[in-house]
Amino acid sequence: MNRPTNRPTGHDVILALNAGSSSLKFVVFAAQDGDSALAEGLVDRIGSDAASIRLRDGAGADLPVAEGRPADHAAALQLALDSLSAALPDARVVAVGHRVVHGGTTFRGPVIVDEPVMAQIEALRPFAPLHQPHNIAGIRAAMAAFPGVPQIACFDTAFHRTHPWVNDTFALPSSFYDEGVRRYGFHGLSYDYITSELHRIAPLIAAGRVVIAHLGNGASMCAVQNGRSVASTMGFTALDGLPMGTRSGQLDPGVVLYLMDQRGMTTAEVRRLLYEKSGLLGLSGGLSNDMRTLESAATPEAQQAIDYFVFRIQRELGAMAAAMGGIDALVFCGGIGENSRLIRARVCERTEWMGLEIDHGRNDRNETIISSDVSRGHVMVIPTNEGLVIARAARDLLNLGGSTT
Ligand code: ADP
Repeated sequence: MNRPTNRPTGHDVILALNAGSSSLKFVVFAAQDGDSALAEGLVDRIGSDAASIRLRDGAGADLPVAEGRPADHAAALQLALDSLSAALPDARVVAVGHRVVHGGTTFRGPVIVDEPVMAQIEALRPFAPLHQPHNIAGIRAAMAAFPGVPQIACFDTAFHRTHPWVNDTFALPSSFYDEGVRRYGFHGLSYDYITSELHRIAPLIAAGRVVIAHLGNGASMCAVQNGRSVASTMGFTALDGLPMGTRSGQLDPGVVLYLMDQRGMTTAEVRRLLYEKSGLLGLSGGLSNDMRTLESAATPEAQQAIDYFVFRIQRELGAMAAAMGGIDALVFCGGIGENSRLIRARVCERTEWMGLEIDHGRNDRNETIISSDVSRGHVMVIPTNEGLVIARAARDLLNLGGSTT
């Protein structure tokens, strides 16, 4: 892909990046407007011999890719750019947007990255040691690849900065709150997108009390009242709340004390247990963290993992509704929320008391509104689009024009 010149072209694009521990997701959008991606891809297993890249066009068709076994995020970005060069030969990157997991209390919205901002993002490393360093590596790699091109940071915590204090604090001595031990909430880019999409397609619902269930490998729920986040299941880290692919979700902190005091586990061992070996993977007896595998497996452990996942969603749904004094709509998104008819149907087996009733035919057909005609509240399925939120932020901050937000 080309570096910018001063000459405006019709091929100006925004590159949206999401750098994980061993992966780099990338999406390309036209700079000025348009909700459809021009291309998207993933470099996976960075740093291993099994590293791979896939690239798709805007319609989802696979495209040829460059060869490479990237050792780090900079090499992964180069591999992505080499592959994109063939797919979009005239594209000129005018902005790079980044998903950054932690914005602390400082960042309440997206920002253009400069050295002071970079220092603040770096200072938040201790709050998200498993994610923030990779996000930073992604920004540094893009700065080196595109010198002089604006870099935009979009924070997963920013959407939740409207929480009232009672949903922002833990019952610890207040000095801990002051030093930043708070319920930050995550998946904010996804909630931001769903909220804006709801506002576009159903403004009356968007003005009400909405619970969004982002159910993917990572999973959380958010209570959104009149477009603003008032509560979320994730807390200080992305470990709290619902069980996830490999993460435990909510846990009595006494369990951690027991593991360390009585079992002699080190911090690293506990971290690995809670982040990598628990959740659906742990509950299914090590079978899988992948919902598709669990749904098709006939083992009692797979069934139990699904049972617990569903139960915790139902439980948190009650909590999110209580935080808003009721509920007008439930929206499913994320890989599981968007695709699993079974999980949606199972969750809604116990929601009639709160006025949410699904129509099984609509659910089976994956329609946008899956609630029945007699349901008091709406149940919806809206595919999320975090990359588009990043592109829109770049358009807005850089006045690229034609933004659809
Ligand atoms: P991430 O949090 O990594 O972005 P995704 O949002 O892609 O994850 O969600 C991945 C999850 O979605 C996996 O558990 C996968 O099994 C599940 N999933 C995807 N398609 C289906 C499907 N058709 N039925 C059930 N689960 C699905």
